Amino acid sequence: MTNIAFIGLGNMGGPMAGNLAKAGHSVKAFDLVQASKDAAAEMGVGIAGSAKEAVAEAEVVVTMLPAGKHVLSVWADILPAVKPGTLLIDSSTIDVESARKAHALAAERGCPSLDAPVSGGTGGAKGATLTFMVGGSAEAFDRGEPILAKMGRKIVHCGGAGNGQAAKICNNMILGISMIGVCEAFVLAEKLGLSHQALFDVASTSSGQCWSLTTYCPVPGPVPTSPANNAYKPGFASALMLKDLKLSQEAAQAAGASTPLGAAAAQLFGLHNAWGEGGTDFSGIIQLLRGRGHD
Ligand code: NAD
Repeated sequence: MTNIAFIGLGNMGGPMAGNLAKAGHSVKAFDLVQASKDAAAEMGVGIAGSAKEAVAEAEVVVTMLPAGKHVLSVWADILPAVKPGTLLIDSSTIDVESARKAHALAAERGCPSLDAPVSGGTGGAKGATLTFMVGGSAEAFDRGEPILAKMGRKIVHCGGAGNGQAAKICNNMILGISMIGVCEAFVLAEKLGLSHQALFDVASTSSGQCWSLTTYCPVPGPVPTSPANNAYKPGFASALMLKDLKLSQEAAQAAGASTPLGAAAAQLFGLHNAWGEGGTDFSGIIQLLRGRGHD
């Protein structure tokens, strides 16, 4: 049993904290929103009056917050209250630069740290089947892995500080680009009189094969479990895809990497979000490519 503090009990953090409690750890948590605290308490999570109070006795602290600015401000707030040697893990999806700053803050306090963003969405958070992409020292990883294993199924050490975030945004840039490519192919097929099923049967067993096609097919029919069969209910919301594509573009600019298709994908998802589609599944971008009149 480990004393764990958990800050940020939203759609992802709530069930993740619940899984740590279910695994027998003592979890003390905090969020700004009362309803999130109430929902976590029902899952066996202890609730503290503040983030500082939550971390006071912790051996491990996990944060699951919206963006880099939240992580840096929460870590700056709690670090004076944590015991030196406490392991800090941030599982939010944030920019690589802020992640590396957070590691530096922890090091100043004598605390090991990990950036450990996740893939798998709210279903993975509830079912403890998340994939964790982890950046930090080998020693910190060895300490954090058994804790992360109670919230996920696959834990990958990607290298030093910030490399977990780097892996996350590289993966999601592939996903955003590949989904647009698959959608364009279906839109072209429709114009050419080729059925969805025929394109799927060929491309899913040919060189066009990819996850966006075979697991998350953006048209209804060929993959019955894909959000296209459920009016593009997420799934993975377009607003979150846009967030990740923007992070990849910030990182590409800072690092001097040329990512023209990533930039185009960010623009297209920006437009899709501007049409009010931020809350629908990202595969629904096929509607934008068809033209709004085809809705
Ligand atoms: P969310 O908005 O549901 O939860 C964030 C929580 O942080 C909220 O409950 C909010 O009240 C809390 N919070 C904000 N500032 C705080 C503070 N100062 N102190 C305490 N609590 C504070 O978001 P989410 O969907 O749980 O996502 C969390 C992170 O995980 C994000 O970085 C997101 O990009 C990433 N992520 C989300 C998904 C998904 O499918 N939802 C998938 C992968 C990664």
